[in-house]
Amino acid sequence: MIKIDKQGWVEGIKHCPSPFFNERPADCNIDLLVIHNISLPPGQFGGPEIEDFFQGKLDHSMHPYFETIKGMEVSAHFVIKRTGEMIQFVSLNDRAWHAGKSSFKGKENCNDYSIGIELEGTDDIPFTEEQYRSLVGLTQSILQAFPDINLQRITGHSDIAPSRKTDPGPCFDWKYYREMIS
Ligand SMILES: [Zn+2]
Repeated sequence: MIKIDKQGWVEGIKHCPSPFFNERPADCNIDLLVIHNISLPPGQFGGPEIEDFFQGKLDHSMHPYFETIKGMEVSAHFVIKRTGEMIQFVSLNDRAWHAGKSSFKGKENCNDYSIGIELEGTDDIPFTEEQYRSLVGLTQSILQAFPDINLQRITGHSDIAPSRKTDPGPCFDWKYYREMIS
């Protein structure tokens, strides 16, 4: 079982602390898990660019696409690479900046009360078995640590920001994921 320490960091995985976070609102109940995908440049996998971007260290001159995301301050609690490697950027006790303008069942600002996991990928390429395995293990630990998150309160970025976002996309196998968790 993956362990989460009191400071909100998962033990035994790589930590790349991001400057892009702030405190959750006072008396905030963490009760939502949001699944995303990201790749930098889009469709290319395996490099350090996501980690660099979430840490404010991306060299924007390295690719034309990177110029278009210059100045964006975003993060997620976790990234799961194609290999299944898990990296944590923000303590679960803190508010990561992954959802943007969003709402879940009428409650706005999902960043306040959610945990965000990014899968390295795109909307139209299947995710790897290693990613599902890591995601399921991580999800199970999160469900145990945050009992107000349950199967009905795991959602996709596209569900909480439907006019702006399409991730994790049609290639994310929700049925397989949910079956493996339960
Ligand atoms: Zn997203």
